Amino acid sequence: MAIATERDYLLFINGEAAEPADGELRELTEPASGEPLGKVALAGERDVGRAVEAARAALDGDWGKTPPTERSRLLHALADAIVANRKELAELEARNVGKAISSAKAELNQAVENFRFMASAIASIAGRSNPLGGSLLFYSLKEPVGVAGQIVPWNYPLMMATWKLSPALAAGCSVVLKPDEATPLTTLRVAELATEVGFPPGAINIVPGGGPTTGAYLVSHPGVDKIAFTGSTATGAEVMKLASNGIKRLTLELGGKSPNLVFADADLDDAIPSSVWSIYYSAGQSCEARSRVLVEKPLYDDFVSRFSDSAQRIKVGDPLDPETQMGSLISQNHRERVHGFVEKGREEGAEVVLGGEPTDGNGAFYPPTVLAKVDNAMTVAQEEIFGPVVTVIPFEDEKDAVRIANDVRYGLMATIWTGDPARGHRLARRIKSGLIGINMPYTAFPGIPFGGYKQSGFGRELGLDTLEDYLETKSVLVSTSPKPFNPFQL
Ligand code: NAD
Repeated sequence: MAIATERDYLLFINGEAAEPADGELRELTEPASGEPLGKVALAGERDVGRAVEAARAALDGDWGKTPPTERSRLLHALADAIVANRKELAELEARNVGKAISSAKAELNQAVENFRFMASAIASIAGRSNPLGGSLLFYSLKEPVGVAGQIVPWNYPLMMATWKLSPALAAGCSVVLKPDEATPLTTLRVAELATEVGFPPGAINIVPGGGPTTGAYLVSHPGVDKIAFTGSTATGAEVMKLASNGIKRLTLELGGKSPNLVFADADLDDAIPSSVWSIYYSAGQSCEARSRVLVEKPLYDDFVSRFSDSAQRIKVGDPLDPETQMGSLISQNHRERVHGFVEKGREEGAEVVLGGEPTDGNGAFYPPTVLAKVDNAMTVAQEEIFGPVVTVIPFEDEKDAVRIANDVRYGLMATIWTGDPARGHRLARRIKSGLIGINMPYTAFPGIPFGGYKQSGFGRELGLDTLEDYLETKSVLVSTSPKPFNPFQL
């Protein structure tokens, strides 16, 4: 695998690359090979302070004066620039995360569409007006919340960044975004492209850094008005506490343990390969990975066998090979964590039907793994493993399926496979998840609200609703009366 060490990646503050105040550069390695990838600057507290100041100045200056039509044009121009640089960005993402380049390309397409959707959605930002009766008139103004502090994880670095950047910029906010310290490269590159297409300095600032240090400081910074966080539920709880000082606006996109329900009347030729994709895409490192496959009892043994046969055929390997369907995990440490869950599953009585041992070599590879004979109370059925590990759980009937689907602290996504359309719609209402798929494995589309019930968080990404999270509503009351009010009759 070739090595991309041509340049260092600095912070991005006030429209340009910036040295970190304490000069810290970290060497990144490619998770799939262990080879060096490049050096990245890590932001400390002073750097976050500089970024927040730049974001505030942008709001008070050029960016704050940029009219919606021009914001829309800039977002489209950034989408065009990503398309023009897609080869470089896809390769960078694949190397940095260890993910298959075919996946990186698909996510890049979505990143582009996010900017385009929000560029168009700007047209929907409008207040309301109505006469209150008598001589009173009311109208409302929609104003940007201010400086948005955004924190994203390592699993979809560029796509998650665009989920956050596009609504914030469309609403007219300025942004300080903290990528995960291990995966900031594509986001830094997109910020450079944003300057090239004309975004004013300070509208977009990128400060890679550690979570409990740089991230926590960003959330606590008094100059930040709104926090948008994507990450684990445990970290989300910490962020919520920090954001409460200063009563910051907050949205949280957190973990999942999403069910995939397969009924005996389903079309198995579709349900099986789609269910395989739904867990192993991105090596299971997806918040909405359908990691609990619930199967109606008469089907169970046959399903486990056919599912495992399909999973075994996934092409795992070099992320840069266009044929690869599943790359490596993000790191050796993460692989150990994933394997620890599999071991725990074995101890608790699950049967490992496929995979279950780390792959030899320098890369952080872990094979597609199937755990059968799983009870929903087991650790492997309750905790987010965040790796290529599926748990297959039997159910008796529709009622039992709904009970098991909901018997978990998360509620992000659920997929239902059935030949009975009425059942699909019935269950869509009974399952407590932010997103339901009926005979369809895909999850995130620009324009369709995405987010969680229960401990999967609150707030929605990708939809028109998302814009509201970056806007304040100001009510203006106007008298049209020729007479003074003089309420005290003084
Ligand atoms: P994580 O919570 O450890 O880290 C996420 C981000 O938060 C990183 O940038 C990290 O540096 C930062 N962070 C860590 N501690 C922090 C703190 N105390 N204060 C502020 N920031 C802090 O999560 P992860 O392991 O990197 O990512 C995987 C998790 O993200 C999974 O739980 C996954 O389900 C979730 N996720 C959710 C969605 C969604 O849309 N619901 C999408 C992708 C990932």
